[in-house]
Amino acid sequence: MRFLKVAHTFERLEKTSGRLEMTSILAQLFKETSPEEIGKLVYILQGILLPSYYGVDLGLGEKFVMEAISSSTGYSRKEVEDCYKHKGDLGDCAEHFVKNRRQLSLYKEELELLHVYDVMYKIATLSGAGSVQSKIKHFAELLNNAQPLEARYLVRYVLGRLRLGVGDPTILDALSLAKYGDRSWRDALERAYNICADLGLVARTFFESPEKIPSFKVQPFKPLMPALAERLSSPEEIIKKLGCCMVEMKYDGFRMQCHKQGERVEIYSRKLERMTHMFPDVVEEVRSLPYKEIIFEGEALAYNEREDRYYSFQETMHRRRKHGIEEASKEFPLRVFVFDVLYVDGVDFTLKPYKERRAWVEKFSYNVLRASFGAIAENARQVAKLFNSAIKKGLEGIMAKDLNAPYTAGKRKFAWIKLKKSYGKGMDTIDAVIVGYYLGRGARAQFEFGGVLVAVYNDEKDRLETIAKVASGFTEEEMVELKRQLEKITIPKKPNNLASNIEVDFWVEPQIVIEVAYDEITISHLHTAGKGYALRFPRFIQKREDKSLADITTVKEVEELMKGK
Ligand code: AMP
Repeated sequence: MRFLKVAHTFERLEKTSGRLEMTSILAQLFKETSPEEIGKLVYILQGILLPSYYGVDLGLGEKFVMEAISSSTGYSRKEVEDCYKHKGDLGDCAEHFVKNRRQLSLYKEELELLHVYDVMYKIATLSGAGSVQSKIKHFAELLNNAQPLEARYLVRYVLGRLRLGVGDPTILDALSLAKYGDRSWRDALERAYNICADLGLVARTFFESPEKIPSFKVQPFKPLMPALAERLSSPEEIIKKLGCCMVEMKYDGFRMQCHKQGERVEIYSRKLERMTHMFPDVVEEVRSLPYKEIIFEGEALAYNEREDRYYSFQETMHRRRKHGIEEASKEFPLRVFVFDVLYVDGVDFTLKPYKERRAWVEKFSYNVLRASFGAIAENARQVAKLFNSAIKKGLEGIMAKDLNAPYTAGKRKFAWIKLKKSYGKGMDTIDAVIVGYYLGRGARAQFEFGGVLVAVYNDEKDRLETIAKVASGFTEEEMVELKRQLEKITIPKKPNNLASNIEVDFWVEPQIVIEVAYDEITISHLHTAGKGYALRFPRFIQKREDKSLADITTVKEVEELMKGK
């Protein structure tokens, strides 16, 4: 397939915001894609080279992309920089310079999708002396052969800023539609995706041998999408929803998925990045477990055994950064509170009911690895008692679990329900993503930071919807740090998958997740979340670097929180 065809489709997608229309545009493109191409095309659509756990990131910074544009088109670095300042998007600049080349290349080849992917892969993986110059050279060669529209998307892709606004749910719909003309394969595709977190692999398998999709199996070193929790606001509601259930302590640590096969051990974060090197103490104990293969999940946090005190995620990470992994491990050793077992020696546990998996969880009573504390609750009084004992220990709250539910990879289902401690009377928090920010006025002018616009996720519409402007709760340091981060991800127009009636001074890539406290949820006509939900008195609590877009609060959860008040 010609890359130009892909570029034209991207252009159409950019101009569309309705999910149905996007799905049909994508399905049309998929129909013309070969099984060899589809996996790579899906990665490009996701704006990645490979799933994050491969550790291969797209790799060319702005400065080098400018150099490549300049060397391919004959414009000076200064001209490219000025254009970038003016347009705010290097993709648009590349398109402009390629259209008006000063320097024509000697021979031109039409760009093929597979070739583009392979060159991007090479650019990402080149290392060692002289590698930067050769990355620039490879990229400039792509630009030499590019049409203006292709240049726009090549540049945005290599910078990791494709922002087509196409979510995974839309890609899954389009795959089914392209091959069978309807959505009948949607659920099977989604399950396969959720248990391997590799949409390119799922797409390729589906195009090559669809019969393999329903029997996709969990396997070591293919992390599963983490199950997500719903939220209710009282013990009574939990019992009404689940009946007799398992109530576990909710540890506010670092969620990890541990995989072992023979001697090899890997640890994945909640965002499914490979974090093995950060946890040598955990790796050693996982390696010595009495199973050939195992996949399990737990929450890691520093623990002061003498004082029976748990440290939060933020404190744990801060200690490890400040004192180094070795030192921090000695002083306040890490404990991993195991809360689910997903696979053991060739047997996939994900479809087994939690009560069976919990029996495996309880086998963990080692040094670093321990079973999360849990007890059966039959009524609201027992749930409340467990909740109070969690809070007394300095924990975040409890996690109630449906004893009969399978592991709901990648989904927010009522298999897990969290009940969290409020930060004060009438105060609760949500996790929202920053979509834009304001410059400071008055006393804030010196920080050039006046607050952020945040959004939650509407999973039915597969889009982000605004819920609050957050302007308080930041320390001076936090303002400076956040401003610095936001500047790097500023984009020239509203993200494509965001519904907003509000303007900001600067739009940003939606990727920084923050925890926001508020007094009440009201209905305003200012915001787009659900029926126009808005937070009253929103204030910043902390950044949640461990969370990605997939983890942010959903509109449904907001509705639940509103009922709880
Ligand atoms: P939240 O981040 O508030 O949506 O809560 C869900 C998170 O709680 C999960 O992603 C886990 O990281 C964490 N967690 C802590 N303790 C448990 C537990 N016992 N069972 C499941 N998840 C837990």
